[in-house]
Amino acid sequence: MLQFEKIKGHEQVLFCNDEATGLKAIIAIHNTTLGPALGGCRMRPYSTVDEALEDVLRLSKGMTYKCAAADVDFGGGKSVIIGDPSKDRSPELFRAFGQFVESLNGRFYTGTDMGTTPEDFVHALKETNCIVGVPEAYGGSGDSSVPTALGVLYAIQATNKVVWGSDSLASKSYAIQGLGKVGFKVAERLLEEGNHIYVTDINEKALDAISSRASDLGGKVTVVNGDEIYGVNADVFVPCALGGIVNDKSIADFKFKAVVGSANNQLLEERHGELLQQKGILYAPDYIANGGGLIQVADELYGPNKERVLTKTKAIYDSLLSVYEQSENDGIPTVEAANRFCENRIEMRKRRNSFFSHKQRPKWDVRN
Ligand code: NAD
Repeated sequence: MLQFEKIKGHEQVLFCNDEATGLKAIIAIHNTTLGPALGGCRMRPYSTVDEALEDVLRLSKGMTYKCAAADVDFGGGKSVIIGDPSKDRSPELFRAFGQFVESLNGRFYTGTDMGTTPEDFVHALKETNCIVGVPEAYGGSGDSSVPTALGVLYAIQATNKVVWGSDSLASKSYAIQGLGKVGFKVAERLLEEGNHIYVTDINEKALDAISSRASDLGGKVTVVNGDEIYGVNADVFVPCALGGIVNDKSIADFKFKAVVGSANNQLLEERHGELLQQKGILYAPDYIANGGGLIQVADELYGPNKERVLTKTKAIYDSLLSVYEQSENDGIPTVEAANRFCENRIEMRKRRNSFFSHKQRPKWDVRN
């Protein structure tokens, strides 16, 4: 009874136990109104099953919103494997996991997340078709940071349009935290537009690399240390590293007019979205701005096609403008407007599904 209270709001939770391989996993399906559940598989040495359950339930609910925002034909799900990724990963374990995924008969699609690699899912792919994000040689669509970075740039354009009346990326200054796969690509594009960018990273090589790109691309790079990034005199903050970086302490330093980046869970707490609003700082909800990677893996089911993914990623621009408009009209923080935007999309589909009840679901997987 206690467990059913815990999974309230979720459609299905599957506990997977395979003694031969040592697999202990939980698959959570939050909501399949928009299509089968989609969500990565995270591997962590959770100290208790309750801790793993809490994580998978929270993450799978988040995926329902992220899929709705990206307008893909998937619902929200997630899976966790309880184990230490540095010593417990094996081909057999991922094949066993693939068999559990297959047992859900197309209700759940998964792939890599923290603690797992695309190669792990090549083993799972032997047991089920319901795998996304494998290497290109196995039919996957490749590096998801390309559409993610592009989506962030569209999100910056939409934000610039609302704050400054023009969606040009040029003639602004940007503070970029994290020059990894996403942040570096965003930084290069912003330099191409001749902007001044402030950057920080714990990786010295990334800082050297972007400084040397400035001489080829144009623009200006100023490197700052750690938390100094929160107080620089830039127009837009672009967090592309850690979560929880928008908090009471950092907001007190902000001179930015907007926050738009790829990092997941940027707000330490949802109330920090309200605090940004009170300070007149426009916040692009992270799960909309960083949806490009999700759009790419969801699109794999139609066969890999980079052009189509890039076209679909462009829709992030319009989605964000709708969210900003709703936030303005209703006088609510953008994060709340984003949640309503997604709930509305799910509600509309629910009505359509029941209206066309003889044909409830789109044909999801052209590979089957
Ligand atoms: P990455 O690991 O390639 O890059 C992260 C960068 O942040 C690294 O260069 C790292 O050195 C730097 N970093 C780490 N700690 C830091 C700190 N304390 N201060 C400054 N820099 C720090 O990751 P990525 O793929 O570029 O993703 C960046 C963020 O975007 C992550 O939060 C990720 O979850 C999120 N995201 C990525 C994708 C994608 O497709 N790659 C999709 C959605 C969301």
